[in-house]
Amino acid sequence: MDLAYNQEYTEFRDELRAFLKSHGDESPPAHERGKPSPRAVAWQQKLIEHGYAARTIPKEYGGYGAEPDILEAHIIAEEFARVGARMGHNGDNRLVPTVLELGTEEQKQWLIPPSIRGEMNWCQGYSEPGSGSDLASLTTKAELDGGEWVINGQKIWTSGAQHADMMFCLVRTEPDAPKHNGISYLIFTMDTPGIDVRPLVTMTGEAIFNEVFFTDVRVPKDQIIGRRGEGWFVANNTLKHERGGLGDPNQAESRFHDIVEIMKRETIDGQRLLDNPIYRDRLLKLQGQMLAMKFNGMRVLSHFAKDEEPGLPRWIVKLNGCELNHQMANMAIDSLGELGVLYDDSDHLRDQGMWQQRYMLDLGLIIGGGTAQIQKNMIGERALGLPKEPKYEQQV
Ligand SMILES: Cc1cc2nc3c(=O)[nH]c(=O)nc-3n(C[C@H](O)[C@H](O)[C@H](O)COP(=O)(O)OP(=O)(O)OC[C@H]3O[C@@H](n4cnc5c(N)ncnc54)[C@H](O)[C@@H]3O)c2cc1C
Repeated sequence: MDLAYNQEYTEFRDELRAFLKSHGDESPPAHERGKPSPRAVAWQQKLIEHGYAARTIPKEYGGYGAEPDILEAHIIAEEFARVGARMGHNGDNRLVPTVLELGTEEQKQWLIPPSIRGEMNWCQGYSEPGSGSDLASLTTKAELDGGEWVINGQKIWTSGAQHADMMFCLVRTEPDAPKHNGISYLIFTMDTPGIDVRPLVTMTGEAIFNEVFFTDVRVPKDQIIGRRGEGWFVANNTLKHERGGLGDPNQAESRFHDIVEIMKRETIDGQRLLDNPIYRDRLLKLQGQMLAMKFNGMRVLSHFAKDEEPGLPRWIVKLNGCELNHQMANMAIDSLGELGVLYDDSDHLRDQGMWQQRYMLDLGLIIGGGTAQIQKNMIGERALGLPKEPKYEQQV
């Protein structure tokens, strides 16, 4: 099997490498990712100008306007991961494809240009205290009052809500309909009166997500994506894009190379970790898993290139990729020895404490966007055709 790229793609990669070599240091640093900043906006703007972000978004919505090319998209993802540069953000990865596919023309004009530039930052209001894995049981309600929706209820684990300009939010609009049919997908600005955001501090010491309370929040009637009661379908469209971005095999490969560098640098009794048989054995096991995910990623890519639905290879990316990334961070921390347990502001911290942060964040990513157990259920039922999990309602 010849896995080499043809000349056109090789040149594209060379061009991209040259760009990242001269401009890569303008990317916001890893610890600032996810937080809006002038630097993030400037970086995003530069990427769009060169066609490395919003590449296939039509020019009329502020994108680069290239024809979709799955291999180019893959090369961009690979090269950005290789040098650890930031690509995309919330608005870009989840909401924008959803609006492009299902939004009205007016919504596309309003939402897409500032979102892809990183000037309109989004948070995702799906989970509630009693509705996470069983999301369709959500109870935050919206009732029509004249020309406005009036929202009451609560969301939880809302990542970045404290920095966001806008929320896409699932609400129950048809309380009498079966649970999956009674949901609508609303969008609104976070400064709408009646919204109360309360940050939740996690074990990283930072508040990455929040509780969000709604008391008589009034939203114009037309700020809905898709039709009333069809929010479940719209939400799954967004989740498809979110899961596609979690567990990216390029990230695992880039981490693997970073760990090799750490193991060349760190020593035990004068011996490089890379030459220590126990560490080396662990490293090789991780390399095996990383390569398996990389080639699985190529399988997914080959299906997309042929316009086919990849099925199982696609389903396993989030589950295996997120767990692998977590194991990689674990390996890096062990390789740092006693320095691996330092945190936050110690003078002896290595790599700005990035691995310790990643270790804890990655644990969250195994849960966020659908837990590992739920992914396994979906793989069993949808990809392998196993019998459906018995539903509680059906048993009583
Ligand atoms: C880092 C992070 C960021 C997040 N960001 C957001 C966000 O921006 N917006 C948002 O809306 N939500 C967000 N979430 C919430 C996330 O989507 C939920 O945590 C997730 O869907 C699980 O829901 P839950 O926490 O209510 O757990 P539960 O659904 O209560 O699950 C508890 C445990 O039971 C298991 N379980 C539940 N049902 C089944 C089943 N049928 N079969 C087998 N096991 C089962 C689960 O796997 C889990 O281990 C985020 C979560 C994390 C960790």
